[in-house]
Amino acid sequence: MPKLPNLAGMFARGAPLRAPRFTHLRAKLTVLYAGLFVAILFVILSAVYAAVARNAERIVRDELAASGQVFDRIWTLRARELESGANVLARDFGFRAAVATQDAATIQSALDNLRARLGIDAAFVVGLDGRVLTASSRSRARPNDAVLQAIAGQDAASGVFVMAGAPYQAVAAPILTPMLSGWVVFAVRLDQAEMKALEQLSAIPLQPVVLVRGADGGWKANTWAASTAELEAVSAFLDAPKSRRQASVTRIGPAVAVIQPLAAIAQDRVVLLLRYPLAQALEPYSWLLGALLLLALLGVGVIAAGSWALARNVTRPLLALRDAAARLERGETVQVEAAGTDEIGALERSFNAMAQGIAQRERALKLSTEKAEAANRAKSDFLSNMSHEIRTPLNGILGMAQIMAREPADAAHGQRLAVIRESGEALLKILNGILEISKADPASLEARDFDLGALVRAACAADAKAAGAKRLTFDIAVAAESQGRWRGDARRLTQVLSNLVSNAVKFTPQGGVTVAVDHGDGVVRFRIADTGVGIPARWIEEVFEAFSQVDASATRAAGGMGLGLSVAREMATLMGGKVSVASEEGRGSVFTLEVPLVKLSGAAPAEPAADPLADLEPEGEAPPLRVLAAEDNKTNQLILTSLLEPFGVDLTLAENGREAAEMFAAGAFDLVLMDIQMPEMTGVEATLAIRQGEAKRGAAPTPIVAVTANVMSEQVAEYLAAGMSGVVAKPIEAEKLFAAIASALDGAAQAAAQTAVQAA
Ligand code: ADP
Repeated sequence: MPKLPNLAGMFARGAPLRAPRFTHLRAKLTVLYAGLFVAILFVILSAVYAAVARNAERIVRDELAASGQVFDRIWTLRARELESGANVLARDFGFRAAVATQDAATIQSALDNLRARLGIDAAFVVGLDGRVLTASSRSRARPNDAVLQAIAGQDAASGVFVMAGAPYQAVAAPILTPMLSGWVVFAVRLDQAEMKALEQLSAIPLQPVVLVRGADGGWKANTWAASTAELEAVSAFLDAPKSRRQASVTRIGPAVAVIQPLAAIAQDRVVLLLRYPLAQALEPYSWLLGALLLLALLGVGVIAAGSWALARNVTRPLLALRDAAARLERGETVQVEAAGTDEIGALERSFNAMAQGIAQRERALKLSTEKAEAANRAKSDFLSNMSHEIRTPLNGILGMAQIMAREPADAAHGQRLAVIRESGEALLKILNGILEISKADPASLEARDFDLGALVRAACAADAKAAGAKRLTFDIAVAAESQGRWRGDARRLTQVLSNLVSNAVKFTPQGGVTVAVDHGDGVVRFRIADTGVGIPARWIEEVFEAFSQVDASATRAAGGMGLGLSVAREMATLMGGKVSVASEEGRGSVFTLEVPLVKLSGAAPAEPAADPLADLEPEGEAPPLRVLAAEDNKTNQLILTSLLEPFGVDLTLAENGREAAEMFAAGAFDLVLMDIQMPEMTGVEATLAIRQGEAKRGAAPTPIVAVTANVMSEQVAEYLAAGMSGVVAKPIEAEKLFAAIASALDGAAQAAAQTAVQAA
């Protein structure tokens, strides 16, 4: 018997137990065992009963055979008795004299006397001519002629004859005077009383019956209602050849019987039939049958319980294994107790080995996942740092180029400035592309509400301008049903669109570019078609590979390093969409961008002011805007000053976060521009300090705009959470800085108006 696993312990560990489906197997085994037992018991019982029945029949047969002999003996004895009685009378001197003188009265009285003395039923004197001379009988019946002729035909006769339908055992003795002058016949009636008296002599009730069949085959006497089957059996016995006509025990129907042939006077055939029903013989064994039945029932119960328990022993370890497997599937650490030496024990051991293997592999997997995550974090950190480090000097280059472009200069000077600016912008684009490709991570997706038309127009704004400069037509068509508010990663969508549109403008020397937008099934489709140089068929898929260009020398003239399309495809895939292209060399290309977006109901938000600079343009006698700028880098300080002061901004510079917070508390400012990475106190800490101070004074929050090279989405979120109103990326683009300042001031004004309304 296998040692069972510690189920209680396993369940105590909290594994829920499912409804055991193995009960089917248990029930089957139970039924099987019980059925087997019943079958075996049935066979044994039948064998026992058959043996008992055979034995009982044998006993009955022996008894019958013995009884047959006893009856035979009794029969003979009575025949002798009758014979001696008849002889006594036949030899009696007085009687013989009376017969000789034909003295009827003397004969009659002698006959009557002896019959009465011997208790015989009938006595006759038969003459030589076969007629009854004198009769002494209880009935008036006389033997028929055939019987009388038979008696008259022989010296002495002994046997059965039938008189008035009843069988008689009779004996005839000759009367010699001294010549033969007749016969004395003594007969005993074989009635039911006689049969009963015979029956008393046997140990078992044999129901003896005397059957007499006439020469014509008809039954003349049937003393104790023998059945048809018995009569048929006796007929068969009588018709058999004489050699086989001996007393024998046979089976007649449900009884055993012995047929004993008897002598007959005249032509009749006579038998004595003794029979005994077997059921009666088996009656004494009924208690045995009852006891066996009881034992069988008891056995079935015991075996059923035993086999159920046995089946349970087999199924329990299986159940435990199944539960353990279920827990293994849920990721738990599992071991089952495996102490048995049988097949189930082996199964349990290999299960444990498997569970151990799985656990080991899981640990290894977890370790390598952790390693990979750590490496990924390191990469992100590196990228973030690199981005910052490159953006800061770029800020210097681009900022200065922008400022210098505003100052009057000669044509050659202006051209050189433009080269500086374009080179810087190209570098910035490359930096952005590399950053985008390396941080393509679904977790970085940002869902934002936006107006689709406005987004497309904004994404195309710069390229539309460039198209105009190249004398190209530029059209935007947003389907009417696609207008309105949508939700999705607006920043990435803008970037992909602008990549595709700028390519279209870049590679189109004449003709134009159209941007068509529509949607269906939650997917918005942007088709950017141009009439440009097109892409050779063999290149069509390769343009999406990073750093791939159709014609390096040709595109070099147009600028770019083969990153735009791979970034576009990467981002589209990240957003769950795709980018595809159809193109014909020399005729133009159609780029299709499909992105799943969520359509929102409700009106489109108001579009931002067309020219944010306009808001900052000095207007009449308006007081100058008081701006506090926290910036530790001298170049950046110079850029801010150069960018803002021409617009009459009253700019105060702070060297670090602490100084900024102190200066803010001391003075009055309309707006704060806050660098983030600064010595002493970071921009975030300074912002928190400023907001605390305002809260203490009960003053309305002054807008604070972050100006930073840290532009990863989680960093931006952190700044907004600290209480900043907007973020401007370094390198600073003048237009974006002015737009951010304008929208921050706008937001503050709206908030102030609202508080004023609430206060009123
Ligand atoms: P880049 O433009 O920076 O070289 P892209 O990945 O954006 O890199 O484009 C890869 C190449 O695919 C381009 O150099 C150009 O050869 C080809 N290409 C992209 N867009 C178009 C277009 N609209 N028409 C013709 N060729 C194009």
